[in-house]
Amino acid sequence: MRSDTVTLPTDEMIEAIRTAKLGDDVFGEDPTVNRLEALAAEKMGKERALLVTSGTQANLVSLMAQTKRGDEVILEAECHTYYYEVGGISAVAGLIPRPLKGVRGSLNPDDVESAIRPKNIHFPEATLVCLENTHNRAGGAVIQPSVMRKVHDVAGSHGLQLYMDGARIFNAAVALGVDVKELTKHVDSLMFCLSKGLSAPIGSIVVGNSQFIERARRIRKMLGGGMRQAGIIAAPGIIAIEKMVDRLREDHENAKYLANGLAKLNGVSLDPSSVETNIVIFEVNIPGVDSERIASMLAEKGVQTLSIDNNRMRAVTHRGIERGDIQYAMDAFREVWERIAK
Ligand SMILES: *Cc1c(COP(=O)(O)O)cnc(C)c1O
Repeated sequence: MRSDTVTLPTDEMIEAIRTAKLGDDVFGEDPTVNRLEALAAEKMGKERALLVTSGTQANLVSLMAQTKRGDEVILEAECHTYYYEVGGISAVAGLIPRPLKGVRGSLNPDDVESAIRPKNIHFPEATLVCLENTHNRAGGAVIQPSVMRKVHDVAGSHGLQLYMDGARIFNAAVALGVDVKELTKHVDSLMFCLSKGLSAPIGSIVVGNSQFIERARRIRKMLGGGMRQAGIIAAPGIIAIEKMVDRLREDHENAKYLANGLAKLNGVSLDPSSVETNIVIFEVNIPGVDSERIASMLAEKGVQTLSIDNNRMRAVTHRGIERGDIQYAMDAFREVWERIAK
């Protein structure tokens, strides 16, 4: 339960890899990649799409394609791009991050409004606002379409673009029971991951208008992400989009079930009603025991979790983890708790 990135490809995906029609995608000639990109653009209601190697590369390529070095980018203070991407936003893209504190991962449109400074010779120029939906470090929290619309309006009224790190955007759509376009229509561009809950082995997709994708394609090449017979990556990606979305509901139900169990343990702070998708983040306050220690005690019993801070832990549900596995995990938690929190 460390992450939904551990999901393995389905048998159908392996077969699709074996039989995929291939070509050289740097020349634009891989028919399977072209099919995946057309499908992704259509699903998201945007002009075009681009297959990239990872979510991290998707964010970097997207940010670079919409800004120039020295620009300011407004984002949420615990978002993946700022927190978990090795500082590429500054080290590679040359951007100045302007982190704003959000509530459950969501930016307040008024805070965005006041963070956008007027044109002045002293200030870097802000050109982009980023949202993350669902928000990883906020426990898979969903940002509502109405909030996204407001942030988009504020950004647009000052001439800024809105970009969405939608690594788990299908989890948000399934949780809200809406078509994913309800969440993409208020952003200028976005990315999503094929390799998380959707179970494809590799890849993420950048989506937006033609001009943006054209630039993103050049930057992907610059970063060494131009791939040749990438149809072997695209083939399982097509199955991910067409067949793996609806089952995310199961992951959400399992996460909720797990959260209900964890909330009963002494020293755990967790409101199960805050678990909207497949990520369960909980705080553990037991004197003398940090979350790293708890994670290793659980691992000894075959239950893998992540320590994300001194006193915060994360468990993620995904394909391959069934209701019975959650019950097994809860037994392991209770055994560990008997030793650490009498
Ligand atoms: C996983 C993730 C990424 C990065 O994806 P990788 O493929 O691991 O590089 C980006 N943003 C969010 C919100 C993520 O959860």
